[in-house]
Amino acid sequence: MLTGAGFDRAALRRADPGWLAAAWERARVLLISPKSATPVATDAAGAGGLALSDASDLPAQGPRRFLGVADGVPYFSLTTEPAGEGWGTLREVGMDLDELQAGLFATAIALEQWHQRHPCCPICGTQTHEADAGWTRKCPNDASVHFPRTDPAVIMLITAGAGGDDLALLGRNPQWAPGRFSTLAGFVEPGESLEAAVAREVFEEVGVQVNDVRYVASQPWPFPASLMLGFTGRLVGDPAIRLDPVEMAEAGWFSRAEVQRAADWVDDGTEPGPGVQLRGVSPRLSISRFLIDRWLAGQLP
Ligand SMILES: [Zn+2]
Repeated sequence: MLTGAGFDRAALRRADPGWLAAAWERARVLLISPKSATPVATDAAGAGGLALSDASDLPAQGPRRFLGVADGVPYFSLTTEPAGEGWGTLREVGMDLDELQAGLFATAIALEQWHQRHPCCPICGTQTHEADAGWTRKCPNDASVHFPRTDPAVIMLITAGAGGDDLALLGRNPQWAPGRFSTLAGFVEPGESLEAAVAREVFEEVGVQVNDVRYVASQPWPFPASLMLGFTGRLVGDPAIRLDPVEMAEAGWFSRAEVQRAADWVDDGTEPGPGVQLRGVSPRLSISRFLIDRWLAGQLP
C-alpha cells in the first residue's frame, strides 16, 4: 500500500517545458485539495478510488505538478479548492486504490504538503517559487534550489520468545481508543542510524532492550512528510515494561492467538465483549498491519 511503484516518475521530463505542455494536453489529472482534511477528489460515481479528470475539463489556475507516466499516459495533479461532493481522505478511499492510484495519491499529497509548509527560503527567508513541474522551489534572491523533504520514521514489530510461541510487543497511543494497539514507532533523529533509532525508541517508550533489528519494508506516509521504515527486532533480557506516560497509554506482550483475534475483529467490524485488553490493531492499509500480518503468517525473520 502506497508503495508508489505503479508508475514511472520520468524525472528527466520535469525540466522540459515543451514536453510538459504537450503531455498536459493528453494527461489524466488528480485533483488535490489545499485542505488536508479532504485531500483528494474521489470517484463520486461510486466505483471507488480516485477521480481522474481530462486536462481539458479543468480550470487553468492552480499549481499543476507532473507525477509521472504509466502505460504511455502522463499523470499530473492540480491543486484546487474542493467543490461539491466527491472529496475524501486516505482512510475513506485507501482500500479502493490500486497500485497506480495509491502511488499517485501518495506522491501528489506529499508534494502539496511540502509546498504548503515550505513557502520561504531556509537560507535567506525570501518567498520561493515552485519550479520543475512541482519538484523544486527556487529562491529569487540567492538562486538556491530546494527539494521536497521526506522525514524517516521507524516502525517496528518487537518479539520475545522463540518460533510460533513468541509474543509481540504492542502499545497504545494516549490518543487512541481503549483496546486499540499498534506496533511502536518514532522519528529517526539527526546523526542516527535506523537500527539505533529502533532500539532507542523502544527503550524510550516501553523501557525494554532489543537487538537483531532487521529491515522488512517501507511505506510513504505523506501526512505531512513521513517515510515509514518497517523493522523487526527481538527482546534482550528483561521483558518488564516501563512506560513513557507521554508517548504510551499502555503496552503489553501479546500471543499470536490474541493478535489474530484482534485483527479479525477490526476486519469484520466486531465489537468484542468486556474484559479484553487487546481489542483492535491497525487497519489493513498501514505498514503496522503489514508487519503484524506477516508475523501472524510466520513470515518475518
Ligand atoms: Zn534565499
